[in-house]
Amino acid sequence: MIQRKTIQNTLVLETVKKLQRHVTADEVFEEIVKEYPSIGRGTVYRNLQRLCEQGEIRKVEVPEGADYYDIILKPHYHIRCVKCGKMFDVDMPYIDNLETNVKDFHGFSEVSHDIMFKGICADCQAKK
Ligand SMILES: [Zn+2]
Ligand SMILES: [Zn+2]
Repeated sequence: MIQRKTIQNTLVLETVKKLQRHVTADEVFEEIVKEYPSIGRGTVYRNLQRLCEQGEIRKVEVPEGADYYDIILKPHYHIRCVKCGKMFDVDMPYIDNLETNVKDFHGFSEVSHDIMFKGICADCQAKK
């Protein structure tokens, strides 16, 4: 049983890496089920959650939508296309300062932050 879980865990991780971009749990499931029709959606979801806890992947929360999973672990910012839902990394330095200020003023520990930009991607603009 433990063995089986490990294989599924590896399969889910390999699939996220193979898709090589920011993926939702549904996209990971759709990809895996092509090759392994017997796998359940719940299994994929649970393994994604476990991989986050293990620090193998990172969850990117979207306030008004499904969470995305990311193989880049260091803190960075994202931009999401409002038309097609694709998420991209933003090439901009992470602003540690923001967290220092919050810690100092509000006495919080373990402070982190995300910035999510939104817009219309180049592909969708071309599709007009
Ligand atoms: Zn788009
Ligand atoms: Zn990212």
